[in-house]
Amino acid sequence: MTHDASEKVNETAGVVGQAQAVLAVALQAYIAIDTDGRVKGWNPAAERIFGYTPAQACKRDVADLIVPARLRDAHRAGLARLVVGGPGRRLGQQMQLSALHRDGHEFPIELALTVTEEPGGRMFHAFAHDVTTARRAARFADIEAAIALGMAEADSSTVAARRVVDALGVKMGWAVVELWLVDEDRQLLTCAARHTEPGRRLGDFALSDLEFGVALPGRVCADGAARWIPDLSADGASLRSVAAARLGLHVAVGVPLSTGRHTLGALCVYGDRVEDPEDTVLGLLSGLAAHVGQYLERRRAEELTVELARTKDEFLAMVTHELRNPLAVIASTVSLFGEELDDLTGEQQRQYLRVIARSSQRLSVMAEDLLDLASLESGHLAVDLVDTDLCAIITEAVHTNTTPVAAKQLTMTAHLPDRLDLHADPSRLRQVADNLLSNAIKYTPAGGTITVTAGLDDTGQKIVWTVADTGIGIPRAERPRLFRRFYRASTALNKRIPGCGLGLVIIRTIVERHRGTITLGEHAGPGTTFVIRLPTSAPTG
Ligand code: ADP
Repeated sequence: MTHDASEKVNETAGVVGQAQAVLAVALQAYIAIDTDGRVKGWNPAAERIFGYTPAQACKRDVADLIVPARLRDAHRAGLARLVVGGPGRRLGQQMQLSALHRDGHEFPIELALTVTEEPGGRMFHAFAHDVTTARRAARFADIEAAIALGMAEADSSTVAARRVVDALGVKMGWAVVELWLVDEDRQLLTCAARHTEPGRRLGDFALSDLEFGVALPGRVCADGAARWIPDLSADGASLRSVAAARLGLHVAVGVPLSTGRHTLGALCVYGDRVEDPEDTVLGLLSGLAAHVGQYLERRRAEELTVELARTKDEFLAMVTHELRNPLAVIASTVSLFGEELDDLTGEQQRQYLRVIARSSQRLSVMAEDLLDLASLESGHLAVDLVDTDLCAIITEAVHTNTTPVAAKQLTMTAHLPDRLDLHADPSRLRQVADNLLSNAIKYTPAGGTITVTAGLDDTGQKIVWTVADTGIGIPRAERPRLFRRFYRASTALNKRIPGCGLGLVIIRTIVERHRGTITLGEHAGPGTTFVIRLPTSAPTG
């Protein structure tokens, strides 16, 4: 060997030694493979990123080590093309790939490949780094931007809630995302928006309202703390977790929507699995929940102002008409009574007294309704649940109303089974029955019919109770507003039928406190049908 040549060899050895020292401390993974895909070089960063020590990795097929099974054929075909000097499009470029860790989880990497010609054949050198955190940050930023934009452009809190759940569902790949809001009036949680992955049927998981303390949203709202349920099937205490597990949903996370002072609701996500660490997901969701909470609080304040102004107007209109009329009748009857007292027969006196009694009755019903509404507003409408037979309650209400029915020449029929057992407050259900019947009587002209039915639905889990009449009806366009305070349909106002628009609000609250629903049913011909659905037994969670 000449002097020059030996110097070159020493220099090369030095460079190789230096390169190895550099690779040993590099933050990027370095992997060298030969033309068969066997590992020839594996630095400590590669061990950190992929989980194998250099000794475990060397001489193994790189595809078996770090390429997810579904991508191995493509990887081998690509390597074969590079080995024969085929199109080396990938050489020198940054590639985004999915890699497999020794523990089996997949994660995203960025990788650049170079090739060198060695005495034993070509050698491929890959430099790679784990981009999970960077990708996650980009994804989270994207979600935050989508949600902020969605809320800014929404013209109501309902639309905003929809956008929040859709953005989270689509961008994070959660199968189900729900936004629940506390309804102070009814002391319940209602599902303001739900995103469901296309093709997934939720069945009895998709509830529209929940009690405090029940299911994940109810528990999050009850104590205002975030919750992570890693295995829904193990959460046997909650019926909804069991339903979720049946649908193949394994993990659930719920965070409170709060404004710092009080909890407005909960943001809950359900999925098959979670790739991101628990604290990262909780961090993201809590951050989003804080934004959504602040937004909803602002929006609610605006909506409340409008609602308050409307309620005030409608309340004034109600007081003017409904309070003044019976008072005027009482005042004028008393004055006439006084003037004509000496000339009146016993029967005429009784007639005057009946007019006064009817008007004071109207006033006392209104006072009762207003008191009930007040307790409703303060969230204190009490329901005392005991084992109850709905048929007995309906039968009694029908009997009590036979006199007004006969007076208006109406026909009232009831089709009921022997018993319908449920866990309920009998006096509150009686209030519902009386209210629906008195409305049917009030809004049905003489000669009409009223039909009451009750029975179990096809599942045997729900009682369906209907009250139908052939009366003045409620125009379809007005039906969405029917359960608002003081709302009266144009059909009732046009005919000047007295009323104050409180009964249905109270009925709905009572029914919902029993975990039931009240809707207007499809009705052929003139008239109205109310449909109430109630669970047959008390819910447990
Ligand atoms: P009120 O009868 O005192 O006005 P409700 O809250 O019971 O109050 O009813 C609200 C409105 O719904 C009524 O004013 C009426 O317009 C309409 N309504 C309720 N029940 C019936 C019915 N059976 N037929 C027609 N309209 C009805």
